Amino acid sequence: MSVQVVSAAAAAKVPEVELKDLSPSEAEPQLGLSTATVGAMSPPAGGGDPEAPAPAAERPPAPGPGSGPAAALSPAAGKVPQASAMKRSDPHHQHQRHRDGGEALVSPDGTVTEAPRTVKKQIQFADQKQEFNKRPTKIGRRSLSRSISQSSTDSYSSAASYTDSSDDETSPRDKQQKNSKGSSDFCVKNIKQAEFGRREIEIAEQEMPALMALRKRAQGEKPLAGAKIVGCTHITAQTAVLMETLGALGAQCRWAACNIYSTLNEVAAALAESGFPVFAWKGESEDDFWWCIDRCVNVEGWQPNMILDDGGDLTHWIYKKYPNMFKKIKGIVEESVTGVHRLYQLSKAGKLCVPAMNVNDSVTKQKFDNLYCCRESILDGLKRTTDMMFGGKQVVVCGYGEVGKGCCAALKAMGSIVYVTEIDPICALQACMDGFRLVKLNEVIRQVDIVITCTGNKNVVTREHLDRMKNSCIVCNMGHSNTEIDVASLRTPELTWERVRSQVDHVIWPDGKRIVLLAEGRLLNLSCSTVPTFVLSITATTQALALIELYNAPEGRYKQDVYLLPKKMDEYVASLHLPTFDAHLTELTDEQAKYLGLNKNGPFKPNYYRY
Ligand code: NAD
Repeated sequence: MSVQVVSAAAAAKVPEVELKDLSPSEAEPQLGLSTATVGAMSPPAGGGDPEAPAPAAERPPAPGPGSGPAAALSPAAGKVPQASAMKRSDPHHQHQRHRDGGEALVSPDGTVTEAPRTVKKQIQFADQKQEFNKRPTKIGRRSLSRSISQSSTDSYSSAASYTDSSDDETSPRDKQQKNSKGSSDFCVKNIKQAEFGRREIEIAEQEMPALMALRKRAQGEKPLAGAKIVGCTHITAQTAVLMETLGALGAQCRWAACNIYSTLNEVAAALAESGFPVFAWKGESEDDFWWCIDRCVNVEGWQPNMILDDGGDLTHWIYKKYPNMFKKIKGIVEESVTGVHRLYQLSKAGKLCVPAMNVNDSVTKQKFDNLYCCRESILDGLKRTTDMMFGGKQVVVCGYGEVGKGCCAALKAMGSIVYVTEIDPICALQACMDGFRLVKLNEVIRQVDIVITCTGNKNVVTREHLDRMKNSCIVCNMGHSNTEIDVASLRTPELTWERVRSQVDHVIWPDGKRIVLLAEGRLLNLSCSTVPTFVLSITATTQALALIELYNAPEGRYKQDVYLLPKKMDEYVASLHLPTFDAHLTELTDEQAKYLGLNKNGPFKPNYYRY
């Protein structure tokens, strides 16, 4: 990922946040929950608001390492972390959606009608539904034109479901349901599944130690008291742990799903049973999707003051239908690459009217998503689809970035013989130093048993490579998009496709040779395995802290721009996960802190540090 990092000098001018200690126990990190205390802030260069961080557009480019960490890190106690507004130039983040339809307006009875198409919008979003269907559609019956984000429809594997939701064909919108307390302010598949969902949530809690620690620490203090959070994320057991934590921290929440397939019905039921207004079920139609989002925000006597979004659809809906709500909204926390990209576009166009926190690019989240998650899920995805044994197999991994490093490490540990291809000499040298043979794909393509792409590039594996692979070679992709393997080139008349399992195709050549193509070249782990809860714990904790930070930030600390989580809070997310491992962190002595020019409580690294 390439992001433009604020210079040390600029970083020194952004606001500083103090994490107040809430008497942590010895085993817990020496940082507290509250981020409400603001440190002193120096005025930005060239005048301007001394309280506010420089917006992305005004920030100078990244410094070289020689710029010196000391400038970016205030040694003054309690005045260290800086939230940085950052620009991105990562080619992996160019996946924007085309939304060029007319606007729609929602009347008090919930009917959505199209508004005149007057303004030529710079931010293009898809057509919106003119009116919610009176008779809801079933899965797969698309009532809307291309209207929801790609991430809203991508298949997303979640934990196994106890109940087959297809048993009951009645749309949740047609059902009258109440929870045991008599509330009907929710719409889920079947409230009676709540008990199963509760068990799923309890399992997830075991692997989400940081959120559980936040809950424990929040018993005396409610940093989200008065917060009214509207959320749109995958509704899984892990999200439930997050929502219940936000509740414990004092927030009121209303929630919809960011993906029409990923909701765990039992979990949604459990949340509804415990009083959360949740509007989501697995297999929503697109009409349902927007209806659910609308039910979260269009409610009498309740207006959100915080947004937690994953994909940007909720933010978009509020922008389009209820722009006045932004008067009360204190901030947006966005989780996804796509949503963050949209926020940067809005910011660039001068249309972002509240501060937004980009949690996607926080260091801990990135590391866990790319390196550690892939290190585990590559094996999971391959096992589930092929039942293969890894020992002794010859594998070529294309790309030795974070994802590639994770894949290589896992396969090496299983006894595979791993080759690496790279275009970048630095990563190539790293591969060599880690003990992998660096090759060109052509050199090994005839002999390998598995080909894995993780470059973020296109046409890394071409038809020519595919033609030369040996019989039964497994081909899969761990990169973001399905462009890495030229799957389209396999759709020719002389090749036969045989679906052997869900997400597993045999592509058969006229001479009988077959290759095993997984997930049709889409991201293997997201298509064929689950994401470890611990990884989601990192993300969820980052989201919770970002909400706390934005909600408690004093006027002027954040402008209408996109910010990264302050480094110190990133460190805090990590520290909250350490007790799980009975890990004992070394504390700087006063002398050492002075020597390094650091605050004893962090942040410990400058923004440009590469972990
Ligand atoms: P990265 O930039 O750190 O690594 C990609 C590497 O591929 C780079 O070192 C680059 O030099 C190399 N490369 C580019 N073109 C190449 C080519 N033709 N042949 C060989 N090597 C080539 O990125 P990353 O963090 O490792 O992510 C890689 C991809 O995986 C991205 O598309 C990213 O969005 C995606 N991703 C997937 C998951 C997942 O869960 N599967 C998680 C995070 C990121």
